[in-house]
Amino acid sequence: MQLTILGCGGSMGVPMLACDCAVCTSTDPRNQRTRTAALIQSPTTTILIDPGPDLRIQGLRQGLAQLDAVLVTHPHQDHIGGIDDLRPFTLNTPRSLPLYANQFTLDRIRYQYDYAFASGESASTRPSLSLNQLDGTAFSIGDVALIPLPIEHGSWQILGFRIGDLAYMTDVSHIPEPTFDLLHGVNRLVIGALRHEPHPLHFTVAQALAAVERIQPQQAFFVHTSHSLDYTTENANLPSHVQLAYDGLVLPIHV
Ligand SMILES: [Zn+2]
Ligand SMILES: [Zn+2]
Ligand SMILES: [Zn+2]
Repeated sequence: MQLTILGCGGSMGVPMLACDCAVCTSTDPRNQRTRTAALIQSPTTTILIDPGPDLRIQGLRQGLAQLDAVLVTHPHQDHIGGIDDLRPFTLNTPRSLPLYANQFTLDRIRYQYDYAFASGESASTRPSLSLNQLDGTAFSIGDVALIPLPIEHGSWQILGFRIGDLAYMTDVSHIPEPTFDLLHGVNRLVIGALRHEPHPLHFTVAQALAAVERIQPQQAFFVHTSHSLDYTTENANLPSHVQLAYDGLVLPIHV
């Protein structure tokens, strides 16, 4: 089983529109980050984490031909802006695509994508979704067992996910104490680290490093990184087991 980092950029992506900073104009492909999203693949199951606004290009890049389910961490637009681009996965089939999120996120999705749930719309004009509410207990999709990880993103209670020995927590500003108990034995940690300057909704690099220090994974990878973080410069300053992720990075998952 593996997890592919489809995108690891902050909410505006890198390069950012209308910016000519050194990172946005860098030729290093690892400084070109689509919005943060990931793909879990087992031998029989493919699961997307966060259908963001770059879903179409990420899917094309990845040769994504089939999806069994979609997990949504939270309803910020950089994580749900690609929901309409889920249409091809149910086109010409009677099935709907199972989408899993907490109640708060499902309510926002129903509101923002009301046409997807209206009667009379055809399968070509709306994504066909079946919504599944996560209440914090472990669940399975096909042969993939998942544990929701409650985390705080500013004032929002949102979700990360643990799959085997890998934990994925993108937009996070605080990890509640009970969630640390769910992170014992994690070997690979994917965690948000927006920038060095404080932000009310996101860990800084230093805060993400403190979480890594507490969780003690073998390896940690920073995602949701802004254009203020240059891939090579930052990695030179990080401990060797902690690195900025890049689009296309593949991490093994052991169960
Ligand atoms: Zn985000
Ligand atoms: Zn820039
Ligand atoms: Zn967010």
